[in-house]
Amino acid sequence: MEKERYNHLNTYLKNKFGKRTLKICVDANFTCPNRDGTKGYDGCIFCSNKGSGEHLKKLSIEEQIKNHLDSYRGKRAESFIVYFQNFTNTYDSISNLKEKYLSAFVDERIVGISIATRPDCINEEIAKLLYEISQKHYVCVELGLQTANEEIGKLINRCYSCFDFINAVKLLNKYNIDVIAHIMVGLPNETFEDIQNTVKFINLHNIQGIKIHSTYVVSDTKLCDMYNLNTYVPISLDYYLDALVYIITHINNNIVIHRISGDAPKDILVAPNWNTHKKLVLNGLDKRLKEENLYQGIYFNK
Ligand code: SF4
Repeated sequence: MEKERYNHLNTYLKNKFGKRTLKICVDANFTCPNRDGTKGYDGCIFCSNKGSGEHLKKLSIEEQIKNHLDSYRGKRAESFIVYFQNFTNTYDSISNLKEKYLSAFVDERIVGISIATRPDCINEEIAKLLYEISQKHYVCVELGLQTANEEIGKLINRCYSCFDFINAVKLLNKYNIDVIAHIMVGLPNETFEDIQNTVKFINLHNIQGIKIHSTYVVSDTKLCDMYNLNTYVPISLDYYLDALVYIITHINNNIVIHRISGDAPKDILVAPNWNTHKKLVLNGLDKRLKEENLYQGIYFNK
């Protein structure tokens, strides 16, 4: 079999847990400081009120996981990581966080938790809690960065800085918690050089994984208003593939690539249309890497 040209998440998880391991997304009913008024009310300009994830009605965390395990999806793997996806999943009291995280371990098939959050919502107490849980189970944190360009960070209204990101990574490193950085390609005003700088920035830190998303427009967002006014034009599939090839070939080859496409909910996607065809991205990237005989980290400069 041909060697994988980048570190695929499925392979990494299979090696780590010794069996096929998939994720179960849960909505733990958190909010976000960029939505409740603490940092802002409007949220990031691309974020719908679904909070970067599909809302799973008002079921408890255990019910959501059990429903998943009891469905055909539960047969697709032998072990699972519960992914706390919607909004900011470290934004609550320590006691509530602990209760919610621990409630994910419904049976021995749940081998870990993955927690999506903002860098300004990680502190020492939270890192200690995660460390405590990591003594028994796998724990990782998915941190939003999107871009290393502070001006674009302001434009997208993320309401945290790259320094917040650096501090959160340091804290999580201190407690030996894996960090997965989220980056986006195709943000307003972003140049290819900005993408290159974001890759350099990621390479400067002790990060174990990245998720790469293409920017898409969904209804009822500020980005959608910009799109309708023609002040934001989504990137093409070709441009996204160029960016992906750059990122994969320049990123540290120890990093696991968790995702290379953003899946917009089809019912609220406005543009670009190619975003609905995940295979175009996956196959397009494979083809380019193969044609040019490229691998992850081939141009990574220590
Ligand atoms: S930090 Fe996340 S949940 Fe909060 S507004 Fe931004 S994208 Fe949405």
